[in-house]
Amino acid sequence: MNETSIITLNENSVRNNVSFLQKKMGKKVKVSAVVKANAYGHGIEQIVPLFEKAGIDHFSVFDYYEALRVRKSLKGDATIMIMGWIDEKNIQDSVKSGFEFFVFDLERLKIALQASRKLRKPARIHLEAETGMNRSGLHYDEMKKAVVIINDNPENLKVAGFCTHLAGAESISNHLRIKHQIARYKRILKMITENGVEPEYKHMANSAASFVYPKTRLDLVRIGIMMYGFWPSTETFIYYLGNKANRTDPLNRVLGWESRIMSVKEIRTGEYIGYGVSFLAQQHMKTALIPVGYASGYSRSLSNKGRVLIRGQRCDVIGMVNMNMIIVDITLIPEASPGDQVVIIGRQGEMEIKVSAFSDISERLNYEVLTHLSQNIRRKLLK
Ligand SMILES: *Cc1c(COP(=O)(O)O)cnc(C)c1O
Repeated sequence: MNETSIITLNENSVRNNVSFLQKKMGKKVKVSAVVKANAYGHGIEQIVPLFEKAGIDHFSVFDYYEALRVRKSLKGDATIMIMGWIDEKNIQDSVKSGFEFFVFDLERLKIALQASRKLRKPARIHLEAETGMNRSGLHYDEMKKAVVIINDNPENLKVAGFCTHLAGAESISNHLRIKHQIARYKRILKMITENGVEPEYKHMANSAASFVYPKTRLDLVRIGIMMYGFWPSTETFIYYLGNKANRTDPLNRVLGWESRIMSVKEIRTGEYIGYGVSFLAQQHMKTALIPVGYASGYSRSLSNKGRVLIRGQRCDVIGMVNMNMIIVDITLIPEASPGDQVVIIGRQGEMEIKVSAFSDISERLNYEVLTHLSQNIRRKLLK
């Protein structure tokens, strides 16, 4: 290993997760793989081919540049749906490339129409309804205006989808709010269909909603975190388990992160270790230096709290997480030496460090931990 650390991607896990999700959603529901934020930190270029091989032909991204990266990574045809930002100057190219995109306000609809007229190619849009998250999307009255524009321009505006996003389906405390959103979605959908607009795909569910509110699956589900082997929340997993006799997790994590010991040191009792005075050696200690730090995505909030695996044993992070390094306690593994494998996320022997352990300690979501993994770290496929 020439680099300071590598991220490993397990192809079997991808296959397992895709097949589990597709089976659960059923034949009538399209599973769109959400690969925004560099595929939740896994790496768009590495993950997209794996998803494609596993049978995914619909991808969701946040912005235009991610869409370009997905297209480049594909071998065959697939639908690419941009759920968020496209700079005005890139709308035409998006239409030209056949990217589908969310129309989240009337201005966007007009820009899409202009682009389509210029190119003489229809824009494939997803009408996003504002149903109560109050983030993006058209209110009932705006949607009415959109319908008029769409009906006036049937050659230019193809309604590929009608969608919304739910504000926190992973937690029961949001139940009422979600119910209201579903009701509003239906009300706006009724209005547009009564006015002759028939969306190809109706969609609203993310990972959590797909499981907790099965009725929200409609024609398509936008699944992110579960593709990578994580439940959106413990609550969602418990809900899924219900009264099942088999309580094992059907998802497998795709990502691992490993490094090597850079050097080892003996520390005398009474010495401080690392920056400042946050760690004082209370006994004679042995420490190992690992070349990962907050610049690679190892959060500073794991200072004096994180753990890694060396020679099949858990070792505590001691002192502050540095920009490029951490120091860990190997007092109980005297044989540990430079070059030894260090597992930061994943399995080593019987032991495992989960992203959730990591995120519980640092009070961050799995989502956040994953997306902070630096794009500079090489991704390596495990077959
Ligand atoms: C990120 C995102 C999703 C996927 O959410 P997960 O919880 O990762 O499944 C779905 N829809 C939209 C609009 C999103 O932004």
